[in-house]
Parts: sequence; structure tokens; C-alpha cells
Amino acid sequence: MVIRDLQAVLHEVHEAVGPLIGSGSVADYIPRLGAVNPDQFGIAVMTTDGDLCSAGDGDVEFSIQSISKVFSLALVMAADGDGIWQRIDREPSGAAFNSLAQLEYKRGIPRNPFMNAGALVVADHLLSLTASEDSPVLDFVRAESGNPSIAVDALTAASELSHADLNSSIAHMLRSFGNLRNEVPEVLDRYVQQCSIAMSCEDLAAAGLFLARRGVRADGSRLLTANQAKRVNAVMLTSGFYDAAGEFAYRVGLPGKSGVGGGILAIVPDVCAICVWAPGLDASGNSLVGMAALDELTSRTGWSIF
Ligand code: GLN
Repeated sequence: MVIRDLQAVLHEVHEAVGPLIGSGSVADYIPRLGAVNPDQFGIAVMTTDGDLCSAGDGDVEFSIQSISKVFSLALVMAADGDGIWQRIDREPSGAAFNSLAQLEYKRGIPRNPFMNAGALVVADHLLSLTASEDSPVLDFVRAESGNPSIAVDALTAASELSHADLNSSIAHMLRSFGNLRNEVPEVLDRYVQQCSIAMSCEDLAAAGLFLARRGVRADGSRLLTANQAKRVNAVMLTSGFYDAAGEFAYRVGLPGKSGVGGGILAIVPDVCAICVWAPGLDASGNSLVGMAALDELTSRTGWSIF
């Protein structure tokens, strides 16, 4: 699609979801996210040729939250191949993102790397492979988007850490089964830091583009083999939306990952990376308007892997 047409489509999508903007509930279990104005909507697309289109609040920063789990998984696979799959399954959970229930009967093996339990194991694995003061996810998203001013929002991180009883319980359960190698506070801190990175839809579309380019980074080097990129996309499709993974596949039909900040990153292999943002969430913790916008966009463009 020529860029001028794509820009027009993004405006159409913005208009189509206009009546919905502001609906859903902001994530108030992290107080700082609960204070975000819900009446915002952004969308951005970056094509594999590097062309960028955006509409609405596409240049406004928000908390990426669980979208960061895609980058941490990719970095762990890049550094250590299949090692992570000894510690995590890759099955949809059918459960909430912060569910603890399956961990006990699965004896400390999370169902997938995108629910909190799995993402804590990925953070732990990455922590063991890097120095404790490193910020591999932050370094990666800065490099891919070419935006060195991307940073962790310290207030969001502090807000989450002071309300982290459930994630802390999950981490302790993992450790009791021998599936957390570092100390719980260190792992939680790493995890919360990566979740609290603030980025715009435009930055996120650029940072996720390596998954549309079958593992090739912005500078032309390779982060993942084509086979590994296929696998990350597959896990996004099956587990990127927790107990709404089926709904996202049905309505959108793309690999994607949501965050409770209201962002969604979606990948059209060989074509583009898309990011939408609207802070109000549905009952599964996914952006209500974001999901509707991707439904509109993929219906208009025919972008789907199906
Ligand atoms: N930091 C959030 C949490 O652990 C991430 C959850 C999400 O975005 N789904 O609860």
C-alpha cells in the first residue's frame, strides 16, 4: 500500500473508533496508571521499508508495561537460544495475566513467557546473562527506534513496586520450585523497570519492526534467526492477550502483545509493525479501543496472517 493511502486509512480508523475513545477502565492496581487520562488514542505503523505513518496521539508517550515482555523474550532467545524453554512452556494460559493458579500444579513452570509468571522467569534469565546494572530492554528499544531519550518512568516503577504483592507472590512461588535463580527483589526490580519504560506508538512500531523483518534489526544486523522470529510471533499469537488470545486472533488475526498501559503492538510479517494506544482496558486487561482500532485497520487493509 502506498504511504499516502496508509496515512488516509489511519485517519479513517481514528474516525471509526472516535465514539469509543475514553471507554474501558484504566489500570488502577498500579496507581500511577490509574491517573492517566483515558480520552487519548494513538496509532502508528512502520513498514519494513522504514516508512512511518501515525495518527491521533501516535507521538504521545505511555507506559509500555507487558509489551516489554516481547523484547525481553527476544533478547533472551538471541543470547541463549532455546535455554529459556527448559523453564517455561509455550501454551496459552486461558487465565488472567497475573494468575498464580497454574504455577502450583505445573510445579513452577509458567504456561507461557507473556503472563507475569513467565515474564518474571524471562527477566530472571536475562538478569543472569547481563550485569545487574544493565538495562537490556531499554538499550534495545532506544537503538531500534533511534530515540535515545526513551527512559524508564521512575514514578510508574515506584508505584508498581509499592503495590507488587501479587507479582511478589508469583516470584516467591517460582523460587520455591527452583525456577528463579536470582533473588526475588532483584528480579522484581528488573521486571518493573522494563514494564515502566515510556514510549510512543511511533517508537514502539519502530522497536517491534524486527519481528516483521524476520529477526533483522534497524541497522541491518540480525537479533534473531528467521526461525526464532517465527517462534516469537507464534507465541504472541497464542499468548499475547492472556484469556482474550482467541478474541484477538478472531478479530485481528495477527501476532500481538498488549500492556496494561493500554498499548498493543501487532506484527504483519514482511509488511509492518503496528502500535495502537488507548488507556481504557477491557475485562482481560487489553486496550478496548486499541483492539477495536486493530479490528478496523486489518478489515480495511486485509492485513492478517489468515
Ligand atoms: N507490570 C504489569 C504487571 O505486572 C504488567 C501487566 C500487563 O501489562 N499485562 O502487572
